[in-house]
Amino acid sequence: MRRVTILGATGSIGQNTIDLIRREPEAYDVVALTGGANIARLAEDARALGAELAVTAYEDRLEDLRAALAGSGIAAAAGSQAVIEAARRPADWIMSAIVGSAGLAPGLAALEQGTTLALANKESLVCAGALMLATARRHDARILPVDSEHSAVFQALAGEEMTAVERIVITASGGAFRDWPMDRLARATVAEASSHPNWDMGQRITIDSASMFNKALEVIETREFFGVRPEQIEVLVHPESLIHALVGFNDGALMAHVGAPDMRHAIGYALHWPDRRALPVPRLDLAQVGTMTFRAPDEARYPALRLARAVMDMGGLAGAAFNAAKERGLDGFIAGRIGFLDMATVVERVLDRFVTQGDRLNAAMTLDNVLQTDHVARIWADEAMTERAGESF
Ligand code: NAD
Ligand code: MG
Repeated sequence: MRRVTILGATGSIGQNTIDLIRREPEAYDVVALTGGANIARLAEDARALGAELAVTAYEDRLEDLRAALAGSGIAAAAGSQAVIEAARRPADWIMSAIVGSAGLAPGLAALEQGTTLALANKESLVCAGALMLATARRHDARILPVDSEHSAVFQALAGEEMTAVERIVITASGGAFRDWPMDRLARATVAEASSHPNWDMGQRITIDSASMFNKALEVIETREFFGVRPEQIEVLVHPESLIHALVGFNDGALMAHVGAPDMRHAIGYALHWPDRRALPVPRLDLAQVGTMTFRAPDEARYPALRLARAVMDMGGLAGAAFNAAKERGLDGFIAGRIGFLDMATVVERVLDRFVTQGDRLNAAMTLDNVLQTDHVARIWADEAMTERAGESF
C-alpha cells in the first residue's frame, strides 16, 4: 500500500488525482486531504477514501468540518499551520495542488520528510525554485512535474542527457482571447476570461491562461525545474492543445509529447513513475484531428511573457515578487477593481519598484525572505491598484 496525501484535494487537480486513486482503492492508503472553503466536498472525499486526516485552510471552518466528519473517525484540523502539519505526516507520495504561493510552505514541509512530491503548484518553483530544489536534495526527496508541459518535457527527456538538449518548447493554447482584437481585450470580463477553449481547470489558472501569465510562470518553472538557460526556452502558440511540449536536441531532433488535453495523464504519470501504466484518458485519433496549427506568441498582446524574461534576468527573489504581484492583480481583476490588461501593468509597476529599491531582491533565498517579498509585493500591487482606481492605466 502506498501512503498518499493530497494538498489542495478539493480543487481541479486534487479532484482529478482523487479520480485516479479511487479507481484502485486497494493500492493506496490515504493519509491526509486538505482543502479550503468547500467543506462538504472535503469531508465526502475523506470519507470515501478513508483518509486519516482532513484539513481546511480556514480556521473558522473547523467546527463545520468536525460536524461533516462526525462518526467517521477521521481527524479534523484547520488553518495554514495545520496544512503544513498535514504535509509533514509520513507519506510516500504527496500531491502539491494548492493554488498560489500558499502552496510553498506545505510543499517545503513535504520535501523535508524526503518524500516524492508531485508538483502541480508551479508557483512554489517560481517563488523559490532554488530553495525547493535545495530542500529536495538535502532530504533526498524527489519532485515530479505535474504541469502538463513540464510532464511532457520530463517524458521526452527520459533516457536522454541534459547536455544534448538545445531547447525546450512549451506550447500555449493562447487561452480564451487568442483571436480577440486588443481594444476588446481591455474590456474583457471575468466571466469571459474564466472559460478555457480546451482545458477544464480552476478559475485562477484559467484567467492566467487568457492573459498568458500562466505561460509566463511556466517559462520560469521550466528554467528552475530543468536548469536550462532562459534563451533555451521557447513558447509556441498551438491553439489545439494536443502537443504539450517539445524538446530540441543537438542532432536537430524534436521530441514532441502529443495527447488529449486531460490532466489525469500528467497526474497519472507522476503517480506511477517510474512505471508507465494504463490511464483512463481519451485516445487521440490524429486522422480525425487532421491539422495542428502553430504560431509565434505576440508579446504586445501578452506582456506577461516579456515580464517573465525580465524576471529571469533579475534572478534572486524576483520570481516571488512577480508571482505575488500577479496574484494580487488577479484578485483585483476578479473583484472588478482593474481591467484585464491592467494586470500586467500592476505587475510591471511592482517589479519596477523593487528594481529602484536596489538590493531587496538579492537577499538570500530563505522561506522568510520569500514570504517577506511576497508580502511587500502584494502591498505594492494594492497601492498600484488604489492609485489608479477609477482610471485606466
Ligand atoms: P483550484 O482553485 O481548482 O484548487 C485549489 C486548491 O487549493 C483547493 O483545494 C483550495 O481549497 C486550495 N487552496 C486555495 N487557497 C488555499 C490556501 N490559501 N491555503 C491552502 N489551500 C488553499 O486550482 P487548480 O486549478 O486545481 O490548480 C492547483 C495548482 O495546480 C495551481 O498551482 C495551478 O497553477 C496548478 N495547475 C493546475 C492545472 C489544472 O488543470 N487545473 C494544470 C496545471 C497546473
Ligand atoms: Mg500547464
